[in-house]
Amino acid sequence: MSTTLPASIAALVARTPEWGALLERWCLINSGSGHGPGLERMRVALQEEFTRVFPTAAVTVLSADAPGYNPPGVKALRIRVRPEAPHQIFLCGHYDTVFEADDAFQHARWLDADTLNAPGAIDMKGGIVTMLAALDAFEQTPQHERVGWEVLLTPDEETGSHGTRTLFEEAGRHHHFGLVFEPGRTNGDIIHSRKGTGGVVATCHGRAAHAAKVPNDGKSAILALAEFLLAASKIPENLPGVLVNVGNIRGGTAATNIVPHFAQAEIDIRVTQVSDREPLFARFQALADDINRREGLRLELKCWLNRPPKENLPGERALFPAWQQAARDLGVAPFTWVHGGGGSDGNFVSAGGLPNLDGIGPIGDQLHSDREFCRVSTIAPRAQIVALVLHRIATGEIVLPTRTKT
Ligand SMILES: [Zn+2]
Repeated sequence: MSTTLPASIAALVARTPEWGALLERWCLINSGSGHGPGLERMRVALQEEFTRVFPTAAVTVLSADAPGYNPPGVKALRIRVRPEAPHQIFLCGHYDTVFEADDAFQHARWLDADTLNAPGAIDMKGGIVTMLAALDAFEQTPQHERVGWEVLLTPDEETGSHGTRTLFEEAGRHHHFGLVFEPGRTNGDIIHSRKGTGGVVATCHGRAAHAAKVPNDGKSAILALAEFLLAASKIPENLPGVLVNVGNIRGGTAATNIVPHFAQAEIDIRVTQVSDREPLFARFQALADDINRREGLRLELKCWLNRPPKENLPGERALFPAWQQAARDLGVAPFTWVHGGGGSDGNFVSAGGLPNLDGIGPIGDQLHSDREFCRVSTIAPRAQIVALVLHRIATGEIVLPTRTKT
């Protein structure tokens, strides 16, 4: 090892029961993205824990209002230490989950001594525990004054971060590097880029008529929309890097003896590069135009990209080898970094120009299902990598890529 391992970083592994207990406690607080009172309870629990561990930190409660998206009054938390230090690191995580107050999945169960099955265990309360553990260890290292940090904890990642995206974009102005504590891959790999995410609402208007009218001048909105959706789902065959998923469909009336005049579908779309956006939207429009040329039918589209794609930045390529080196020095099993299909707040961090490593949280799987689990023994080693990298930044052994502040 090129530097001796500070005792507080070495000690993280022996503290694993503490991380498991904290994670279980946090998972038992329902914080579904739509559950305002639960999110507030979770926000208070986080604030208490971070304040207990970092009593000198400046804690700010920030509005995350986004009418129509977030429950009114939800808040983000910012915890800041040494904003004047020469090196500034941004760390983020979301404390909402996809499991709402009425979801059947509310329990925490230990499947074995190491595996916690609980809502949000890996996505991503386990990541927030990892962040807390890493910072706790780092704050006890000898040269920690050289590094300042900001933690941002948010309540709306699962629904698109409508109330917090500007907070992530802003982070780029004050920091030199970002760390996003989303879960790692099951083999330990972290994430170097992510697809951008968005959606399409396709609304089809036809002409109602009696089902048995002869001759029948009814125009079925359902059949026209179905034709459109089948063609739309094939767009990725000719546009690599793009994903199209028809998520839901509704239409018609309760009476089946009417040619339906209305149908609507919602589609999830993903792009790998910003430049995928225009051709993708153009293809959707061309398919709608085919329908619209027919008398009695009108297909309207609303297309948008919510999260921009997270492209791999030069500053990330500069730091990743040092990240792997820290893992090797700690004896952590080797891993690399890969492209991830799902979006995260790392997309917004990158859009703000801040190089960042994503997917550095603990290891688990089955997120967004009641089989979601975290391997609690992976919290300490992942936190050790973070703490050791911060320590090496403080000592000057790792030199952060320079970036011009805007
Ligand atoms: Zn998620």
